[in-house]
Amino acid sequence: IMARVFNFSAGPAALPLAVLEQARAEMLEYQDSGMSVMEMTHRGKHFSAIHASAMALIRELMGVPDDYAVLLMQGGASSQFAFIPMNLVTDRNQTIDVVHTGMWSKKAIAEGRKFANVQVIASSEEANFSYIPAQSEWTPTPGAAYRHITSNNTIFGAEYHWQPEAGDAPLVADMSSNILSRPVDVSRYGLIYAGAQKNLGPSGVTLVVVRKELLGRNPDLPQMFDFSVQAEKDSMLNTPPTYAIYILKLVLEWVKAQGGVAALEQRNIAKADKLYAAIDASGLYSCPTRVDSRSRMNIPFTLADDALNAPFLAEAEAAGLVNLKGHRSVGGMRASIYNAMEMAGVDALVDFMADFEKRHG
Ligand code: PMP
Repeated sequence: IMARVFNFSAGPAALPLAVLEQARAEMLEYQDSGMSVMEMTHRGKHFSAIHASAMALIRELMGVPDDYAVLLMQGGASSQFAFIPMNLVTDRNQTIDVVHTGMWSKKAIAEGRKFANVQVIASSEEANFSYIPAQSEWTPTPGAAYRHITSNNTIFGAEYHWQPEAGDAPLVADMSSNILSRPVDVSRYGLIYAGAQKNLGPSGVTLVVVRKELLGRNPDLPQMFDFSVQAEKDSMLNTPPTYAIYILKLVLEWVKAQGGVAALEQRNIAKADKLYAAIDASGLYSCPTRVDSRSRMNIPFTLADDALNAPFLAEAEAAGLVNLKGHRSVGGMRASIYNAMEMAGVDALVDFMADFEKRHG
């Protein structure tokens, strides 16, 4: 007997059940094609329509202005740590500003250093990345090639609840773990990127939204890595990850059917508030993140006694609540509650936590 669990994985993460059911229904024969989406040419009419519809839905749901290109690339967000400096830095002596808020910004820093000087203009490292430094604390470099933030820190559970001012350099944001979870003013950003495997779909496709004016700064890049070539070819320069893009399209349709990002934001606030309230009210659990920076997507919490971690995880799993183990750099637990996590999953977790505390607290 098979039963679906509540999956609190940080990514790849739970997808909406309706999306999986539609994919199942269309698995063997997609519309009148007589074949699976996985088996069809990416140049044919069926896949072309899927691709065009995914692109249009991204523009609609995110409110992407016309002077921005939307790209679907491969290599994950990790490749973007290198592709972005390759495309935006024109001279090795330029500076990339980075706000350092966790392990992912650390990787952006390390890759950026291969192409330019990197200046850490604010950091929460001294407090184990438990907060987002206010813009008033940043020390931006005048004339930087770009300024990079990570809008939500998947591991440490700290999220920007405000949108930075771009200032004199294009603002670049890694939105891998909170894209489409709340409205974003795209026009503030020079570039937004996100791996798909949290809020967009399965791994294998990476979203890039970039202001067209930033394209074409470096004419000599390998064409697969060149945003201007990808934009010109509508991300169909080579064989795209077709099935991942198909699922992305289904997820985007689901987002639209939920009422779009503004409606999802309200649900995400309600889910996160409920879980944080349960943590804060308990004597057993605590959350290391500063209240003003608490993520709505990834909620880390520790237990008063580390010896209780193993029984907590085992009993949670037996109750159908899985992938709650925290990242080793924080310890304890982490509940990732992206768009697809229903309130019922949060309720089940909160009830389990209260019951566990009664028995072990
Ligand atoms: N940035 C953030 C904020 C992430 O959470 C992750 C993955 N968890 C990455 C980048 C790396 O993404 P990928 O595995 O797609 O390279």
